[in-house]
Amino acid sequence: MSTLEIKDLHVTVDTEDGAKEILKGVTLTIGDGETHAIMGPNGSGKSTLAYSIAGHPKYTVTGGTVTLDGEDVLSMSVDERARAGLFLAMQYPVEVPGVSVSNFLRTAKTAIDGESPKLRTWVKDVNATLEKLNLDPTFAQRSVNEGFSGGEKKRHEIAQLELLNPKVAVLDETDSGLDIDALKIVSEGVNRFREQEGKGVLLITHYTRILRYIEPDFVHVFVDGRIAEQGGPELADQLEAEGYDKYVSAVR
Ligand code: ADP
Ligand code: MG
Ligand code: MG
Repeated sequence: MSTLEIKDLHVTVDTEDGAKEILKGVTLTIGDGETHAIMGPNGSGKSTLAYSIAGHPKYTVTGGTVTLDGEDVLSMSVDERARAGLFLAMQYPVEVPGVSVSNFLRTAKTAIDGESPKLRTWVKDVNATLEKLNLDPTFAQRSVNEGFSGGEKKRHEIAQLELLNPKVAVLDETDSGLDIDALKIVSEGVNRFREQEGKGVLLITHYTRILRYIEPDFVHVFVDGRIAEQGGPELADQLEAEGYDKYVSAVR
């Protein structure tokens, strides 16, 4: 089972001029096995939603709830969220100089499972995953995100997704900076994940392009910290044709 339930979520961010409300009551349920896309213009609060679910300290939840299979996510530490089965791939992943991809993945896996993976099968799994993502085996020895191209960063995220195998994955702008080949490889990785029983995906994106490869069950239009419209995959086609103007002018 994997149901992520977000109810009337209000979030402020600390700025130099004090707290500013960014999320103004977001309600969204990602049911068992469902893929939802959140689309919206820049600055509408999409990443804020992802960071809030992740527990980023800069974002303060001032109202509402987030639960995963009924468990209160907001009261969990960042580590507890990962152990509970949440995976969050951020729009701007951090560099971790001196920590190799290989060690990083193994540490994350160990933290989540509560025991270190058996070395032999683990090395096999890592190599197989890198290969599927068209990454050279030497990639495992590089420092996390240091000097990675945009495509390498995103493929590294999908490697994490495949190896950590969470219940629900929140992917923020996983398509940004990808050429068409990398987009296909990344999309195939996400699709392999969601083809498993009961996996939830929240795919945050500015462009409809990735939705041609990862077909969502539901699409939500995000404007000014709220969901302005929801529908099926056809809503993405409509956005592709008409853009966000209609929704943006409605809130002005
Ligand atoms: P999106 O991902 O949809 O482009 P964001 O969630 O990144 O939107 O940002 C929403 C709004 O919140 C923007 O106006 C942005 O400037 C503001 N904001 C987000 N994070 C911060 C932050 N850490 N400090 C100051 N302002 C922020
Ligand atoms: Mg409200
Ligand atoms: Mg963003």
